[in-house]
Amino acid sequence: MSGNPQYSFFNAVQKSFDKAGKYTKWDKGILEQIRECNAVYQMKFPIKRDDGSVEVIEAYRVQHSQHKTPCKGGIRFAAEVNQDEVMALASLMTYKCAIVNVPFGGGKGGIKINPKKYSPYELEKITRRYTAELMKKNFIGPGTDVPAPDYGTGEREMAWILDTYTAMHPGEIDAAGCVTGKPVTQGGVRGRREATGLGVYFGIREVCNMTEVMSKLGLEIGIEGKTVIVQGLGNVGYHAAKFFREGGAKLVCLAEHDGAVYNAAGLNEEDVFQHKSTTGSILNFPGATNIATSDEALELECDILIPAALENVIDGENAPRIKAKIIGEAANGPLTPEADEYFIQKGTLVVPDMYLNAGGVTVSYFEWLKNLSHVRYGRMEKRFTENLNSHILGQIEELTTKKVSKREREFIMHGPDEVDLVYSGLEETMITATNEIMNTWKSNPEIPDMRTAAYVVAINKVGTSYAELGIFP
Ligand code: NAD
Repeated sequence: MSGNPQYSFFNAVQKSFDKAGKYTKWDKGILEQIRECNAVYQMKFPIKRDDGSVEVIEAYRVQHSQHKTPCKGGIRFAAEVNQDEVMALASLMTYKCAIVNVPFGGGKGGIKINPKKYSPYELEKITRRYTAELMKKNFIGPGTDVPAPDYGTGEREMAWILDTYTAMHPGEIDAAGCVTGKPVTQGGVRGRREATGLGVYFGIREVCNMTEVMSKLGLEIGIEGKTVIVQGLGNVGYHAAKFFREGGAKLVCLAEHDGAVYNAAGLNEEDVFQHKSTTGSILNFPGATNIATSDEALELECDILIPAALENVIDGENAPRIKAKIIGEAANGPLTPEADEYFIQKGTLVVPDMYLNAGGVTVSYFEWLKNLSHVRYGRMEKRFTENLNSHILGQIEELTTKKVSKREREFIMHGPDEVDLVYSGLEETMITATNEIMNTWKSNPEIPDMRTAAYVVAINKVGTSYAELGIFP
C-alpha cells in the first residue's frame, strides 16, 4: 500500500483521463472543460462536543460537472478527507454517471472526522450543520445537488440530512429527492443498501461470461467455482461478498482494517460479519487462518480480487506480488496509475471503479425518480400483472388440459415488487455498460485497458452534451 503522502488521487484521475482523451475526437478545450472541477466548496464550522468543548470541523463539497443536473455523489466521513480526494471522487462520479446513463453531473462531499471518535449525538450535529452549510450556498437540493452515503456514512446520516433540509424548506413537494440512500421508511428505495455490491457482482459476472476475455486470462467461463478475496467488509464489500458466494464463487479470504481470515474451503460472509460484531474483530474466526494485515491478504492466490475499502491500496510497490487474474475495483481508486501500468503489462484484467461500483448511483437514481413521482415502484402494476398472468395461465391449462405445479404457478404469476424492479433495472444497466465498454475496447485495438475504454465511453457522452448544448453565454 502506498505510504506516499505526496500521492494525488486527483492527479491520478486526470492522468487516466488524459490517457483516454487521445482516443476521442474532442478538441483540447472541451477535454479541459470536462476534466476540471466546476466548483469546490471548503467549509469550516464549529460544533459543541458532549463534554462542552468546541471543535472546528473541516468539510468539503465538490461539483465536478453540471453538464447534467442535479450533481450527484456520496458524502464521506473519514479522518483522511482532503480537497484533492474529494475532487478526485467528484470527477469519477461524472464519468460513472455517464457510463451507466444516469443523467446527473458528478459531485462528492467529505467531512474530515473519524466517526468512531464521536457520539451519535455529536455526529448528528455535525451532519445537520454540514447540511445547513450546503444550503447556504445552494449546494444541496433535488434539482441542484443530491448527496448519498459513502465511506463512513449510511442511512442514518441520510435521514438527518433529509430532516434538516425539509425543516428549512417547508412545503417543498420534492424535498425527499434532496438526498438518496435514505431508510426505506423515509423515501428510500428497496435494494439501495446492497446496490453497489450487487452491481459489482453483476459487472464481474458479465465479464466472466465473455469467452474471449476468459480464454485470454486462462480462466473458465462463469463465476461458479472462482476463488475470491474481498478487502473491506463494509456496505460494498459485505454485499459484494454475499452475491459472489450466492452466485457460486468461493470466498477464500475476507480482510478488514485489523487483518484478514483465510479458508481455502470457502467462508460465509454473514458468519464472519457476525463474528466481527460479537468479538470486535474479524480475526480468530473459527476454522479460518488469521492473516496479520489487510495488505498481505491482497497478495494471496485467487482468481478475483475485490478491494472494497479505500483508495490507493495497490501501488507500484505491491502490484508485482498480486496474484489475482481479475481485479474488480469495488472501492474508488484502489489502484495507483503505476499499479495500473504494471497490470496492463502483465495481462491482469482490471475492471475499473467508475463503472464497476456504479450500482449505488444507479439505484440512487431510481430512488430520486421514486421521490419525484411520489409512488412506490410496483404499486400500480403488481396486482394487474398477477391477475393477467393468472388469466393467461388458466387459458393455457384449459387448452392443454395440463396443470402446472404450485411452484411454477407462483413463479409465473408473480407481479413485480419494488425490489424486483430495482434489481432488474440495475442488472440491465450493468450488462449494457459492460457491453458498451468492451465494444469500445474491441473497436480500437490501441486502447490499452478496460479503464481507458471506460473513460473513452464517458468522455464521449459528456463531450456530446457540451457539443449539443453549446457553451454559455
Ligand atoms: P463502509 O464504511 O461501509 O465500509 C468500509 C469498510 O472497510 C469498513 O468495514 C472498514 O473497517 C474497512 N476498512 C478500512 N480500512 C481497511 C483496510 N485497510 N483493509 C481492510 N478493510 C478496511 O464504506 P463503503 O460504503 O462500503 O465504501 C467502501 C468503498 O466503496 C469506498 O471507496 C467508497 O468510496 C466506495 N463506494 C461506495 C459506494 C456506496 O454505495 N456505499 C458506492 C460507490 C463506491
